[in-house]
Amino acid sequence: MGRGRWSEVRSRLRARGLRWTPQRRVLLEVLDRMDGHVTGADLVASCRAVDPTTTPSTVYRTLDVLEELGVVTHSHGREGRQEFHIRPRASHGHLRCTSCHGTWELRPREVRALATGLRVDRGFEIALDHLTIEGRCTVCAAAGAP
Ligand SMILES: [Zn+2]
Ligand SMILES: [Zn+2]
Ligand SMILES: [Zn+2]
Repeated sequence: MGRGRWSEVRSRLRARGLRWTPQRRVLLEVLDRMDGHVTGADLVASCRAVDPTTTPSTVYRTLDVLEELGVVTHSHGREGRQEFHIRPRASHGHLRCTSCHGTWELRPREVRALATGLRVDRGFEIALDHLTIEGRCTVCAAAGAP
């Protein structure tokens, strides 16, 4: 995220009526060094490793606001668990294999036909960042996995 962006997030949290607490600073530090997909439970654990007083409710409430501010997005992994990403990485959805539980990033061009069709036919705009398509990966399909 970088230092400049931090101070921006801080002032935007304040504008939303959230105080700049040590727990929130720790969460942003943890988010800043994370990569890929991280569950809320992982974030709580990482924050607690730095500050044992961190409560899950503080972490989840802050994540909600950061999402409203467009700083993080979430998608859904196994059993619907929320997995968080930091922007500004490229916008993407996910493919998830229900057999081996593998996940792969889905790029905008890969869903272009679907997105265009739904926009034209229904006036519906896909939220790519929140899109997860479940099915079987090529390996599992070839192996005849359920
Ligand atoms: Zn969701
Ligand atoms: Zn698979
Ligand atoms: Zn992702």
